[in-house]
Amino acid sequence: MRQRSGTILITLAIGAIFVVAFGMDNLGNAQSPALQDTTAKKYSRSFFPNTEQLAANEMRITALGTGMPTVAYDQASASFLVELGNGDKFLFDFGNGAMNSLAALQVDYSETDKVFIGHLHTDHVGDLSILLIGGWFGSRHTPLHVYGPSALLPEHGIKAHTEHLMKAWDWDISSRAGGLPDAGGRIVPHEHDYSKTAVIYDENGVQVTSFPAVHIRYRPVSYRLNWKGLSFVFSSDTVPNKWYLKEAKNADVAVHGTWPTAKAWAKISGQSEELANFVVNNVHTSPQAFGKIMSQVEPRLAVAYHYWNHRDIEFDVHAGILETYDGPLALAADMMVINVTPDHIEVRELSPDSTAWPRLPSEGYGAAPRSGIPKGLLSDWLAEGVRR
Ligand SMILES: [Zn+2]
Ligand SMILES: [Zn+2]
Repeated sequence: MRQRSGTILITLAIGAIFVVAFGMDNLGNAQSPALQDTTAKKYSRSFFPNTEQLAANEMRITALGTGMPTVAYDQASASFLVELGNGDKFLFDFGNGAMNSLAALQVDYSETDKVFIGHLHTDHVGDLSILLIGGWFGSRHTPLHVYGPSALLPEHGIKAHTEHLMKAWDWDISSRAGGLPDAGGRIVPHEHDYSKTAVIYDENGVQVTSFPAVHIRYRPVSYRLNWKGLSFVFSSDTVPNKWYLKEAKNADVAVHGTWPTAKAWAKISGQSEELANFVVNNVHTSPQAFGKIMSQVEPRLAVAYHYWNHRDIEFDVHAGILETYDGPLALAADMMVINVTPDHIEVRELSPDSTAWPRLPSEGYGAAPRSGIPKGLLSDWLAEGVRR
């Protein structure tokens, strides 16, 4: 068992956010993970976007989406943003609804131009076109780099997916091209072998490793990011597997999917118990299985996501995890923020300004090459109909 000590904070928040924040001091003294002093926090509870400078050795993780393929009004689907003290930012999955969450951070989209996709279910990639075009319209003047796995069939690889996405949105893209920076309207795909464990990104002291995931059919992968001795591991979707156990071992923050129990899922979804059992245990991970994984992985903080965090589900998920795991745990909700340094981890919440304007584009956006505002897009008879 990894040595742990410090502060455990358990907060039951409105909106059914049940979060355990964990701090560790430099002494390395192990203490049992029980409810302790809740005052020894290093950060304010709320994180306000663009108000805090990360330390040189600090990582900040923001849950942009934590939900499921069944769309929910108040919860986006899978996406996590990882920001590093060196200024680098990385997106892991970008499911439907994630763009609204990212917008709440008032980012310069030129800085969020790297996305690592685990697989091509809509709840993991559904907002990619919105990131491409909305981000371009907002402030990105550079191409969007999309990293993802190959597949047995070439048309199921990330390269084919992004090429088809560009074609599907050609009417939109060509209507804006020329007026907006030329490069910002492009995707650069980076396709890697889905069946291998390999470093697929290695720049500026940051390594991202892809490794196989087991999820309904061939192709999905999970990722591990390493930087300055800190690590973030993201399962995307998978059933418990040997690759995750190896790659996530002793990670600082290990994110893994879980679903409600099969019994609860059958009740909520109206699916038969047979189908619910298949979905929960053969395609995803039950709360009990999630706990078993984390008991072996022993991360500094385990993060469970990929279920509706409504109160009637979350207690069941939490109770199931506790059957097999008693270490540091955060049950993810959208806009959960995790600050990570070598000697401290703290879970907070993002406090967005819903009335804020988007962040103004950089000087680089204004100066980026443009081929000119498009002409000739309107037929003469349509143009003749204009009355000003
Ligand atoms: Zn999936
Ligand atoms: Zn999913």
